[in-house]
Amino acid sequence: MTQLARRIREGDIRALSRLATGIENRDPQALEILRELEPATGHARIVGITGPPGAGKSTLVDALALELRKRGKSIAILAVDPSSRISGGAILGDRIRMQQHHADPGIFIRSMATRGTMGGLARATADLARLMDAAGRDFVIIETVGVGQDEMEIASVAQVTVVVLVPGMGDDVQAIKAGIMEIADIFAINKSDHAGADRVELELHAEGFACPIVHTVATEGKGIAELVAAIESSRAATARSCERNSWQGKAPAPQMPSIDHLGIAVQSLEDSIAFYESLGLAVADREIVTGEKVEVAILPAGGSRIELLAPTGADSPVAKFLEKRGPGLHHVALRVPDLNAAVSRLKANGARVLHEPRTGAGGHIYVFVHPASTGGVLLELIQESTN
Ligand code: ZN
Repeated sequence: MTQLARRIREGDIRALSRLATGIENRDPQALEILRELEPATGHARIVGITGPPGAGKSTLVDALALELRKRGKSIAILAVDPSSRISGGAILGDRIRMQQHHADPGIFIRSMATRGTMGGLARATADLARLMDAAGRDFVIIETVGVGQDEMEIASVAQVTVVVLVPGMGDDVQAIKAGIMEIADIFAINKSDHAGADRVELELHAEGFACPIVHTVATEGKGIAELVAAIESSRAATARSCERNSWQGKAPAPQMPSIDHLGIAVQSLEDSIAFYESLGLAVADREIVTGEKVEVAILPAGGSRIELLAPTGADSPVAKFLEKRGPGLHHVALRVPDLNAAVSRLKANGARVLHEPRTGAGGHIYVFVHPASTGGVLLELIQESTN
């Protein structure tokens, strides 16, 4: 084990800060150390706290952290603000204040903001959460600002997501309902000493949300113990507990394959992104896959996503595709529960599986099947990593 990795395992805060910075900057050496720390992960409870601006999330996170400290738990707080290009360092200021105030090594606080581009923030958040886990933190709290697509991507890193609402939001509840509400495992109605808290709860019931609803007054520490209890009893392995009652009949069986993404080969990433953004989609991640000589923009769309692929060199497979076929659907990716079983079945049926299953960047395994076997489109089969 490298010295830095060992120091992080021993609880050295400075070493932890240093590696966190390296990971945020996507420094290859830092990412290598993170891989080295991988076996030490899997113990932390990763909690997402999200909700609209003005809901008092920071105060709630602070109160939650203090309650967990009272119970002897160590905590990392990742405050992520995808919009901080615009809003400035508000979170950072808060955090510095809190850190000075408590000066408690049991609470490690890290503010993350986009530096110019949106791409990769969700991935960096996921990596930092794993780092904090490896460093022995009992709880990793990911606090996001706002309710946009990026926040949803970031929130999906968490095992348990608390959506913070406040009384008097009125139409705001309607506005955010279609998005972030659906990823909630727990609702916290903060500032519940204000008029209208019960109405928010009634509305949630009326909408069919069936999950823990906790009333809190974060500034006074009220309801925080109840919130901790709700978090503790929420099990990551179970289906999202807030899924609406009305969905239950329609939920797909867990073993059924689903469309993971559609890969579209394009000449210009910028032009295509502009088109899809005009439809209300947003780029959650953007990266260059050096091995494949392709630049990828990922746009989540419901439970799946669109991946725009542009070649970075003339010898890129995507460049060859564009030359031969022109821009268009490059591949369809299906998520399957058991990739190896699927591959054996395909081979037994004589399908042209192009290679043995490979491991991708996110730890998932994948394989490609030739269009000749699939009805004319390159098919990618994916299985999420099982850890
Ligand atoms: Zn793909």
